[in-house]
Amino acid sequence: MSDYVLSKQYFVDVIKDLIPWAEERKDYFTELDSAIGDGDHGMNLSIGFREVGKNIDEWQNKSVFQFYKKVGTALLDKVGGSAGPLYGSFFMKFGLPVKKKGETDGVTFDEFIACMDKAVAIIQKRGRSTSGEKTMNDTLMPALDALKAANAAGEAPKACMAKAVEAGKAGLESTRNMVATKGRAMRLGERAVGHLDPGAASTAEMLEIFYKNMPDA
Ligand code: ADP
Ligand code: MG
Repeated sequence: MSDYVLSKQYFVDVIKDLIPWAEERKDYFTELDSAIGDGDHGMNLSIGFREVGKNIDEWQNKSVFQFYKKVGTALLDKVGGSAGPLYGSFFMKFGLPVKKKGETDGVTFDEFIACMDKAVAIIQKRGRSTSGEKTMNDTLMPALDALKAANAAGEAPKACMAKAVEAGKAGLESTRNMVATKGRAMRLGERAVGHLDPGAASTAEMLEIFYKNMPDA
């Protein structure tokens, strides 16, 4: 789909949706993290995106790279624990492949995939982690694979992202039966089995927000 372009506004709209989302879903993510972690995942996202909300008007006129870098830096600076730096790095690095674009430039779908690739890869690097360890990687990595595969098969962009969301949700569900080998849940051993990973749950919903804001064609 060579003429498909995600406008600069698309990237702003995604963040505008993530701000209220973090508030609305706070209790749910807290509940998940209370079962196998320390119960702060919902609060962490809420604190981070509240800070983003305070500054979005000032930042949204920047290029995709600069705007998402500001978002990521806020998450990194304001949120403690592991999810702050991981979510922070995701947004800080997201726009790197389109770094040269101007303030109003959009992004082609191939460029968008390159951005997702960069953002997902940095989580593994920062977290020294991979899939199968009961973390957000279990959502993000299969989602990225599905996104690339659907695009390579010539599917329409929004359909590609739908596949990514679907694969991410399946990945999230797969964390239920995993023993954690990264993050706080590691300490629980077998006792973590039966519970979804909170970061896998929040990233699955984040991907859905990227999907919902995409134009059909
Ligand atoms: P903390 O674990 O510091 O309390 P949060 O509760 O906000 O931070 O986030 C926990 C989530 O972070 C986990 O559910 C998991 O998905 C993710 N996570 C933790 N460590 C790693 C890691 N090394 N790599 C990838 N994701 C991780
Ligand atoms: Mg926690």
